[in-house]
Amino acid sequence: MTDAKLDETILIREVDRGSHYIRDWTGEADGNPSFVARPRNLEEVVELVRYCAQNGLAIVPQGGHTGLVEGASARIEGGHVLVSLERMNRIRTIDPLNFSVEVEAGCVLEVLHQAVETEDLMFPLSLGAKGSCQIGGNVATNAGGINVLRYGMMRDLVLGLEVVLPDGRVWNGLKTLRKDNTGYDLKQLFLGSEGTLGIVTAATLKLFPRPSNIETMFLAVESAADAIRLFAAARRHLADLLSAFELISDRSVGMALTMPDIVNPLATGAPYFVLLEASSSGPLDLEALVGGFLEFALEEGMILDGVRASSATQAQKIWAIREGVVEAQVKHGTYLRTDVSVPISSVAVCIDEVEEALAVAVADGVVLTYGHIGDGNMHFVVMPPRDMPEGPSRHSWIKASEAVIFEVVDRLGGSISAEHGIGRVKRSAFEKRASPIQMDLLRTIKSAIDPANRMNPGAIFE
Ligand code: FAD
Repeated sequence: MTDAKLDETILIREVDRGSHYIRDWTGEADGNPSFVARPRNLEEVVELVRYCAQNGLAIVPQGGHTGLVEGASARIEGGHVLVSLERMNRIRTIDPLNFSVEVEAGCVLEVLHQAVETEDLMFPLSLGAKGSCQIGGNVATNAGGINVLRYGMMRDLVLGLEVVLPDGRVWNGLKTLRKDNTGYDLKQLFLGSEGTLGIVTAATLKLFPRPSNIETMFLAVESAADAIRLFAAARRHLADLLSAFELISDRSVGMALTMPDIVNPLATGAPYFVLLEASSSGPLDLEALVGGFLEFALEEGMILDGVRASSATQAQKIWAIREGVVEAQVKHGTYLRTDVSVPISSVAVCIDEVEEALAVAVADGVVLTYGHIGDGNMHFVVMPPRDMPEGPSRHSWIKASEAVIFEVVDRLGGSISAEHGIGRVKRSAFEKRASPIQMDLLRTIKSAIDPANRMNPGAIFE
């Protein structure tokens, strides 16, 4: 590739320091790319990757830049090329009989949702960042979100991938098969690889019938233990129709209410609230099933109060509370965000122990507990007092809070990254916990595919 061709097709040479290529959603990430490349098709990605290989340039792939662990922006000595997939955003084909779609990596998740809806189909991955995150980023982070308990993570939703390898070769694994037991499942290597093994340029994904009935509820519960008892009951009563089960602490609801147009539909105060959703397609009486479940939960004293959305608009207002918890946080300076998981049976113990320990260790902070507890996944957010200045002491305060949370999670056999990945933020915490054999296997895979360590150096590994 000549420099002239590069200029003509794909470059932003003067990258605005405040642009979304450099700054992530929180404004905290900071990169130093030599230039931003925005290829429009597979051939341009291949030419670009070969150019980088010939010139010894590192590459950082970027999707919607909504990742929360500084994977898509980097300060790399000697500079690097930031490859944004945003212009490769076509939906190539929807196959309603095979319940599958082939889509380019830069397609925004919500755009894919809308496109498949026109065929009365659904792509179930859904998360707060759906209006900005891209399919390639979802693949590279093995994204989770609100429907995992029914449909699985991105790893469970991908049928095939197209990947440009660090030397410019293309692995075309865009199969649309449900069953394919021909040796190692190579696509799984790239799911959750965070841009360290190659550039994902397209994916084939599973689709599902679009639910025709959706029941959304907002329920007040007395304790985290009651929330988990409620979850077990919902699994039994609603079986596979249970699609979301989110816990939101009272404090977190309070944080969401600082955003415009968000209201708590319940007058009853409670320490925790559960956002529960069940959905069905076909001639199932979901309303009656949900009615039976709620009656049981009330009789068993699992819920204090609740509201059941009577329209799509009311359901959206309930979901706005959950989304508002996240959106409201960024106004509060630097703070601790965690994304941990434990076995579902240990969720209540984990929440109680973490909240008790934080109340002692960082009594002056604000703790928000919420998350996808139907998957054993909690986000403990800890905010320093408003008047604590940015700087080393605030950083130490945040690290102390993290240590408290990770101690409980480790003891309960959990994970310090349930769905956001490792990136640069969790690298040392991850390395501390990984066994030598795990690290050896991971490094062996990395060096076999990217021997010169040019793909997103510094993400996952040192
Ligand atoms: P980016 O942030 O651009 O990149 C993420 C990583 O993937 C980087 O390492 C990057 O190098 C790599 N990458 C990106 N594109 C490619 C590609 N084409 N090929 C190879 N590597 C690539 N995450 C969840 O899992 N569940 C949630 O519920 C959730 N909720 C969120 C809510 C909010 C409000 C926000 C801001 C984030 C949330 N996230 C959640 C995190 C984030 O949205 C996901 O990690 C998402 O999958 C990232 O996609 P992206 O396109 O923004 O990727």
